Amino acid sequence: MSIQMVDLKGQYQRIKADVDAAMARVIDSTAFIRGPEVAAFEKELSDKLDGAAVLGVANGTDALQIAFMALGLGPGDEVITASFTFVATAEAVGLLGATPVFADIDPATFNLNPAQVESLITDRTKAIVPVHLFGQCADMDPFLEIGKRHGIPVIEDTAQAIGAMYKGKPAGTMGSMGTLSFFPSKNLGCYGDGGGLVSRDADLMASARLVANHGSRKKYHNEVIGINSRLDALQAAVLRAKLPHLDSFTAARQKAADGYDLRLAGLDDIVTPQRASWGTHVFHQYTIRVNGNVSGRRDALQAFLKERGVPSYVYYPVPLHLLPIYKNDPDSCRTGDMTHTLWAANEVLSLPMHTELTESDLDQISEAVRSFFSH
Ligand SMILES: *Cc1c(COP(=O)(O)O)cnc(C)c1O
Repeated sequence: MSIQMVDLKGQYQRIKADVDAAMARVIDSTAFIRGPEVAAFEKELSDKLDGAAVLGVANGTDALQIAFMALGLGPGDEVITASFTFVATAEAVGLLGATPVFADIDPATFNLNPAQVESLITDRTKAIVPVHLFGQCADMDPFLEIGKRHGIPVIEDTAQAIGAMYKGKPAGTMGSMGTLSFFPSKNLGCYGDGGGLVSRDADLMASARLVANHGSRKKYHNEVIGINSRLDALQAAVLRAKLPHLDSFTAARQKAADGYDLRLAGLDDIVTPQRASWGTHVFHQYTIRVNGNVSGRRDALQAFLKERGVPSYVYYPVPLHLLPIYKNDPDSCRTGDMTHTLWAANEVLSLPMHTELTESDLDQISEAVRSFFSH
């Protein structure tokens, strides 16, 4: 079998009976919208997340939009977040007429830098959004402390970090809200689109529920302008079948990461992923840095790997503030110093990471990386 960046099929083969039965159950019931599967999944995931309430929504991008709408975000408001992330983190901010403010990252973990975030706060700042990038939590204590001192809610973009812990607390449960994605390749992925919101704030969760349900509590009595964003019952059933495996999926990713660390140790040309002392890393991605801000070397490594049948991916080649949507319109965003963001975009390369990687896959991938640097 050739090496894959993500192996959804191999994982499905192992849990096929459970997933097939779950889907058949929903089709048999014809309860396709909301219904018992969605309610049961929300409860089961809530139990897994230390009792924080969970609301299933259509995808992780909607989860962010709903969180911002629940906070009442609108024109003139600002949201501080990372530029080194997937576009969805900031997309809904502009959609709601507000302005994203991009702060730099900590080069060791690729996560948002709290000190710079604080320096960018104005009286228009309505939310701070740390992204738990690649499967590791941002340093939440400083963000929570800054948020509290300035009266600004913290929204955790947890799309890549379900199951990660920060000082014993589950990712997504520490801020005012956490947003989740169940996109197929995420650590807990469904078989289509899916997303979720997590919160311990009952009022905010009630607002999110209202927004996600056409702005109505009672059918045909709409109170605010909302959207239609639901977790599909078929997807909820798949997620219920997969949730009991989440810990073993995480362990498989961590084992693969340890295997890479061992095999890539001592290579001066790269930096393997740093694990922060404050929590666990669930390795949504295993992202190395190719040392030296020399554009071209990382891309040469990627091409070399490809010739040897090893896929790899650059997450993310263009920081958000340099995307045409923002770059071509100076009023569309604000940025702090972007030194580490620019370096990261030049140097990062994510190696294959999924639950089905074998020792021989790790050998082949790591050998290919080593041989690139030995000639
Ligand atoms: C995947 C992802 C999202 C969006 O999730 P979708 O379910 O694809 O809409 C948001 N933020 C980050 C950091 C992501 O990785």
